Amino acid sequence: MSDYKNPSADGQTGPFKAPVPEPKVPTLESMPKAETGSGQQKAEPSKTDILVHLLMEREARAAKKEQAEENARLAKEKQRDINAKSSYEDALAKQAKCRHLKGGKNRIRTQAKDHSVYVHRFINNEQIVRCFLCNMKWKQGDTRDTLLRGGKRIPNHTKLGWDDALTMAAESSNQPSSSEIPLNVVSSAEQVAGQEI
Ligand SMILES: [Zn+2]
Repeated sequence: MSDYKNPSADGQTGPFKAPVPEPKVPTLESMPKAETGSGQQKAEPSKTDILVHLLMEREARAAKKEQAEENARLAKEKQRDINAKSSYEDALAKQAKCRHLKGGKNRIRTQAKDHSVYVHRFINNEQIVRCFLCNMKWKQGDTRDTLLRGGKRIPNHTKLGWDDALTMAAESSNQPSSSEIPLNVVSSAEQVAGQEI
């Protein structure tokens, strides 16, 4: 055993041991101590800690601000929706209440019914019947129960269908209008600015 160790130790450890480790270790240890590196090392992590802390605080503030802005935006959006909805509902209520008759309060009861509606023909030949009092527009396919809008059936708040609208227009003293006739530009402009329904 010793015979094997000795030659191997002599052959391998001898040359490796001789130059490096034991004398250099103490000098390496002493070097940082001499430079007071330990003091700097203590200061550096604390600075980093502060930086990290500040960055996290800044991040938290930014996130909080972002959240507040998002909340404000959502509140604004909600209010806008409520306003839009209420003006839409107001329009529907007006159309539901409208008798689509000329004269209003001053109308004589015995007077023949003169409806405030007229047929309008668009350039693409599509026809609508519109009431100029409530801005209701009846379209082909509308029934007393439902209106056909964008391929969908929605409840008809006026309880008057396309046929009723045509009858009202026929009874009315109003002349039909058309998008192609310059004299009716005003009524066309009104329609563009008016409600969808
Ligand atoms: Zn009306």
